[in-house]
Amino acid sequence: MSAWLYLSIDSMEIKKKQVIELLRIHFGYESFRPGQEKAIDALLNGKDTVAVLPTGAGKSMIFQLPSLVLEGVTLVVSPLIALMKDQVDSLEKVGIPATFINSSVSLSETTKRLAQIRDGAFRLIYIAPERFYNRAFLDELKKLKVSLFAIDEAHCISQWGHDFRPSYLRLKEVIKFCGNPTVVALTATATTEVRTDIAKQLGLSDYELVVSGFARPNLQLAAVQAKGSDKFEYILDAIRSQESGSGIVYVGTRSKADEIVEYLSDYDITAVAYHGGMDADSRNWVQEQFMRKEAQVVVATNAFGLGINKKDIRFVLHHDLPGTLEAYYQEAGRAGRDGRPSICILFHSPSDRYLREFFIQGDNPGPQLIKDVYRFLLQAKENNPEHEETVLITYGELTKQLSESAPEMAVGTAIKILEKEGYVSRPNERTTNSYLKLLKSWEELIAAISPRAKVQLAIAEKLKERYEDEIQNGWQFVAEEAALSLRIKKDVLNRAIKKMAEQDLVEYRPPFKGTEIRILKETDPEEIDVDFSALEEKAGRARAKLEEMEAYVRTNMCRQQFILKYFGEDDPKLCGHCDNCMRRGKMPKREYLASY
Ligand code: ADP
Repeated sequence: MSAWLYLSIDSMEIKKKQVIELLRIHFGYESFRPGQEKAIDALLNGKDTVAVLPTGAGKSMIFQLPSLVLEGVTLVVSPLIALMKDQVDSLEKVGIPATFINSSVSLSETTKRLAQIRDGAFRLIYIAPERFYNRAFLDELKKLKVSLFAIDEAHCISQWGHDFRPSYLRLKEVIKFCGNPTVVALTATATTEVRTDIAKQLGLSDYELVVSGFARPNLQLAAVQAKGSDKFEYILDAIRSQESGSGIVYVGTRSKADEIVEYLSDYDITAVAYHGGMDADSRNWVQEQFMRKEAQVVVATNAFGLGINKKDIRFVLHHDLPGTLEAYYQEAGRAGRDGRPSICILFHSPSDRYLREFFIQGDNPGPQLIKDVYRFLLQAKENNPEHEETVLITYGELTKQLSESAPEMAVGTAIKILEKEGYVSRPNERTTNSYLKLLKSWEELIAAISPRAKVQLAIAEKLKERYEDEIQNGWQFVAEEAALSLRIKKDVLNRAIKKMAEQDLVEYRPPFKGTEIRILKETDPEEIDVDFSALEEKAGRARAKLEEMEAYVRTNMCRQQFILKYFGEDDPKLCGHCDNCMRRGKMPKREYLASY
């Protein structure tokens, strides 16, 4: 039976029957996956649709099937040029005529394909968004009847998303240019603001929102209140309950990552730390250790995870409250990719809120701080006639010199905002050497280190062996070089030295990491042109998300249901095995979580 038989028939009911038939004929599937049907119904009714489904849930079907029964062609905009050929090949294999146009296609081939498109040879045309900047292509487009305009990876249009593509901003205009066909925007990004922003940037007002498929039935979710001092023990218990299964412990700060690694090592659990302050080599090394099961556990800040393709992660534990439920679910969702039962426990205490608020403050400096930082930089430049245009300073120094106290992170963000608005630029980071001098004798130093701090002890001994006299007399060094010559990781060396300094065993001055700040515009700081209300809105959003995160830990609802409702899924089901479901159902104590 051919798909083309149906093309002249118009009624919605019949079209619906056709797509079900076509699902079977072309793809060999008997039924729709969650979300597909609702989205397809909306599109067949000519209603714009935003479809949010996780990767692998079958988003492509949502535009592929309607393309077969709608008059005219379906344009599919995708930034994934490398995948277009595969997508088109697999469509052709199942008897659906499709083509693609992007920068990998030669000019003569493009001309040929455009002619075929004009002749109605294809139902689907995949296009890279950059193509819409090409006048000749737009002229061709004008001649086509476009019935459906599909935007894959639609989060690329949102500046709130993680993968913003400026070329996507053009799409709103292009949709108009094509005569306002029905639009379907597809993404796996579940944040509400990205989703709303997609609709706004595409100019969709009355649209169908379909969110589906985010349930992870094999994850056993739990939130456990624990005092800060008890959390390590809880984490240890949870890891032991999983025997030798691999897992991740997420923490809010870098220092906590190190502390937990040390704690777990004392109990013979192979753990490695991972955070954004580590250099690329160290991070790769940690990832490899984890992938190869040399390390059972990674203790990491939120820098860890993107691109980790380990399917058999049996547990994801959180030592601190994450800032948003989206972040939490993304991190927790790294467990159990193989579909086998896995646990996700969030250990929290009421005081966790302070750390989150500290981050929110750091990310969102108020108008006064931004103006003060700018005023300070203008003055510093005045007082510094040798370097006409630039000021060399550390953020720490700058923070100390401001009249009002502020977190250093907020000062850094204030400079970024001033940079974005064109008031300053940061052409260079400059670094000076580190400095280390012994304050005790070597023997006293080694005796003062706890025998349990094995790493620190080993490093102290290596330093003595290699740089005994230098350190006695005051040693200027570059951490990378020293680490290389001692055959240890730079971060490990730095951490050990910092600990010795904290115990007053050595005098240590870290490298002066100055930032060179160039003033680009000079104006009265009170008059700077920064959209403070947008910044305030952003801070408000961050606080509202934190509230939701806290509501999650306090809820008595099924936790899976709570998260899915938050994402906007219709009518999510009870998971039956999160801590709340088990409490309600009085499940026998067979699972680890039943002990809470
Ligand atoms: P996404 O774009 O959401 O990541 P895809 O569209 O690539 O996912 O689909 C993932 C896989 O699911 C494909 O192999 C596709 O053929 C399959 N699939 C899609 N819809 C269905 C369905 N209704 N029944 C069974 N398999 C399906």
